[in-house]
Amino acid sequence: MQIENLIIGAGPGGLACAKVLAEHAKNTLVLERKSGIGAKVCAGGITWSGLISRVPKTLAEQAFCKQVIQTPFQNITIEEKTPIIATVNRKKLGQMMATQAREAGAAIRTDAIVRKIDTNSVIVQDKKTKKTETITFTNLIGADGSSSLVRRHLGLKNENSGIGINYFVAGKCSKMEWHLNNKLFANGYAWIFPHAETISIGAYAPKKSMNPGDLKKALLLWAEKQGYSLHKEQARAEYINFDFQGWNFGKTFLVGDAAGLASGLTGEGIYPAIISGEQVARTIIDPNHSSKVMDQLVQKHTKHSKMVELSGKNGILNAILAELVTLALRSGILNFKKLEMAI
Ligand SMILES: Cc1cc2nc3c(=O)[nH]c(=O)nc-3n(C[C@H](O)[C@H](O)[C@H](O)COP(=O)(O)OP(=O)(O)OC[C@H]3O[C@@H](n4cnc5c(N)ncnc54)[C@H](O)[C@@H]3O)c2cc1C
Repeated sequence: MQIENLIIGAGPGGLACAKVLAEHAKNTLVLERKSGIGAKVCAGGITWSGLISRVPKTLAEQAFCKQVIQTPFQNITIEEKTPIIATVNRKKLGQMMATQAREAGAAIRTDAIVRKIDTNSVIVQDKKTKKTETITFTNLIGADGSSSLVRRHLGLKNENSGIGINYFVAGKCSKMEWHLNNKLFANGYAWIFPHAETISIGAYAPKKSMNPGDLKKALLLWAEKQGYSLHKEQARAEYINFDFQGWNFGKTFLVGDAAGLASGLTGEGIYPAIISGEQVARTIIDPNHSSKVMDQLVQKHTKHSKMVELSGKNGILNAILAELVTLALRSGILNFKKLEMAI
């Protein structure tokens, strides 16, 4: 089989890329190893400036004009007129994006695991039948997440990543909360993100600052104090790659987590995945397409990475920075948008 644009991974990055390519009548196939599209370990938070305005209102499970931020010394609520963040169900988001990509003309194959990548071809295995097939391509787009095979094929290392642990518990609550506490989460944080019928409770920290076992212990301890006993709930954890080393490698491209474009500071990755997916598609359609949007995204990403590096240097510095950022948000000197990946 010969394909012009082969996309590995049907996450938000791969699907955004497929939709734009197909809209321009480009022959496009997406390979996804899972049987269904959309489900992903994620708290499902999307920002107003970044994404809420791009997805149908019905997709938002809850939208929040207020954000509660807690540190060891401060407990603040910031409020804006329009929602700052909304929560979405990743399965519904993925399925909406897949429908849009298919309607535009892209083909999406599930249960299709890419096992090996060569210069102009991949070997893909059908998860159910175990049969393998060689697919040749003109352009290869690695949208295959934080443990990207395409990234490894390019020989790129993956040194800067974070670990995210998430629990979905049944219940309703109306406050979206961020908890910064250096003793518990180093230069990461814990969150409470309410959805429609469930609540996402989790924690994120850069891998260089904390190991997954300690992060989980801290999360369970902290959650207990917030009134959530998570011991019997199912934890889901994944790495979030923020080791950006480029996105355009000639006929091979990386998008989203595969490119390391998630924020190392907050773990926000849906927006960078969608934006980079679209921009890769536009670059394939027109090689002279301006790289302005990607440059802005990378600049934002670099700022976040620098903050991670600084706050990761030592615990006292990180604790002071967390208090200062919270104070700046409280007094209005710093707008919450500055902490988002939206450009
Ligand atoms: C606990 C946690 C909480 C998070 N919370 C948020 C949040 O609130 N807001 C936010 O914006 N971001 C959040 N993120 C980050 C966000 O989930 C990711 O950044 C985002 O999903 C990246 O999108 P992507 O399209 O690049 O990759 P992914 O969504 O990871 O999609 C990659 C796809 O590629 C497929 N794939 C991989 N390898 C192969 C292969 N060999 N063959 C075929 N298919 C393959 C995978 O199955 C997957 O479907 C969170 C992450 C974690 C771990």
